[in-house]
Amino acid sequence: MRHIVDIDLSPEDLQFQEEVQAFLTDNAYAHGEDYNAWRMKWFKLAREKGGWDIPKWPVEFGGPGWTPTQHYIWEKETAAANIPWDLPFGLSMLAPVLMNYGNKEQQDRFLPDIRDRKVNWCQGYSEPGAGSDLANLKTKAVLADDGTHYTVNGTKIWTTLAHIADWIFCLTRTDDSGIKQEGITFLLFPMKQEGVEVKPIITLGGSHSVNMVHFTDVKVPVENRVGEENKGWTYAKGLLQHERTGLAGISKSLVALEKLKEQARSVKRGNGTLLDEPSFRTKVAELEVDLLASEFTELRSLASAAAGSDPGPESSILKLKGTEIQQRIQKLTVEAGGLFSSAWGALPVGPGFARAGMSGYLASRAYTIYGGASEVQKDVIAKNVLGIKKSGS
Ligand SMILES: Cc1cc2nc3c(=O)[nH]c(=O)nc-3n(C[C@H](O)[C@H](O)[C@H](O)COP(=O)(O)OP(=O)(O)OC[C@H]3O[C@@H](n4cnc5c(N)ncnc54)[C@H](O)[C@@H]3O)c2cc1C
Repeated sequence: MRHIVDIDLSPEDLQFQEEVQAFLTDNAYAHGEDYNAWRMKWFKLAREKGGWDIPKWPVEFGGPGWTPTQHYIWEKETAAANIPWDLPFGLSMLAPVLMNYGNKEQQDRFLPDIRDRKVNWCQGYSEPGAGSDLANLKTKAVLADDGTHYTVNGTKIWTTLAHIADWIFCLTRTDDSGIKQEGITFLLFPMKQEGVEVKPIITLGGSHSVNMVHFTDVKVPVENRVGEENKGWTYAKGLLQHERTGLAGISKSLVALEKLKEQARSVKRGNGTLLDEPSFRTKVAELEVDLLASEFTELRSLASAAAGSDPGPESSILKLKGTEIQQRIQKLTVEAGGLFSSAWGALPVGPGFARAGMSGYLASRAYTIYGGASEVQKDVIAKNVLGIKKSGS
């Protein structure tokens, strides 16, 4: 695969790159192998390499302590390889919150199971009436008089994989007397218990990944509260920045762009191929230029992460551009499939990529909504990156 950003790697980095390539080749999934057994073995071996199973975790929690360039190499190499699936909720979203704001007991209790991929987490943020305006959330948590537990009542919506999750990290309202952001509390509790009801929501592409979740008198021990009561907004915001950085998928888009070109080359047009057609070629070129710019932004973000900073508001630039790019790739894949793309769901006709193209395209409509809609990212960028104040303020 061609790397768009051309950075000179030092001899040490080249050696690291070879080591990563060798690891990925030696431990690639073999056709017919038990997938789950391979997946668990892969993480075990990655762990034995010195924290390669948790590349983004800090050294004190077992992470590898890579330089930004090493992270960049890892992202590139793993984007092109077939590595085991992994969910972001525990690993990339809750873990940093526990590391920064959880107490030692909570870190010892939850982080090992997250690392071992033993417990699936889901994210209970959005509610009917609280999406972009998340601080408007109404799910109530009431502390018992004896201070031992909270009782939670309310409804969450769009909760991804709630139906397979063991635990939820959940934003709840503990005070509604002041400004909205100040009465929110961050709670952790099991999903498989009385009072938790999960209802599926089937999305445009016909799949079940999101849910509506109702809580009725769910008891949550007070030791499952992260940080202080009413301070959950601060912790929740930090998590969103990690979520946004993770959603950009720049390295994966680089791989997908090359695949798109290959697909377009396989479609005959006159004496040439679809990729030779000026209008299609121009769209691919524009995409490639935007991808290059986003890759540089990602490198900046990696550099600040390696220097120990949390991802800042620039994670909104990555989320905005990265997800738009993913959507444009999906759209061009449908365009390349032409009429055959509309046969999605029916018997296979035309090139193989045309069928998968449409379901990918439909699913991609959500990319610019979840993790904070594009319009909201633009607000964050205007305020916190460009320093533009609202008129009148
Ligand atoms: C597939 C999928 C998976 C999801 N998974 C999860 C999950 O696991 N956990 C979870 O908690 N949430 C999840 N979400 C919810 C997601 O975070 C919200 O959908 C998102 O924040 C938008 O909120 P909303 O749906 O309430 O839309 P709204 O906030 O009502 O927005 C509607 C429209 O108004 C626009 N708008 C809103 N405010 C502004 C503004 N200030 N300026 C300009 N335009 C504005 C929006 O951009 C959007 O176009 C998921 C959503 C989807 C689609």
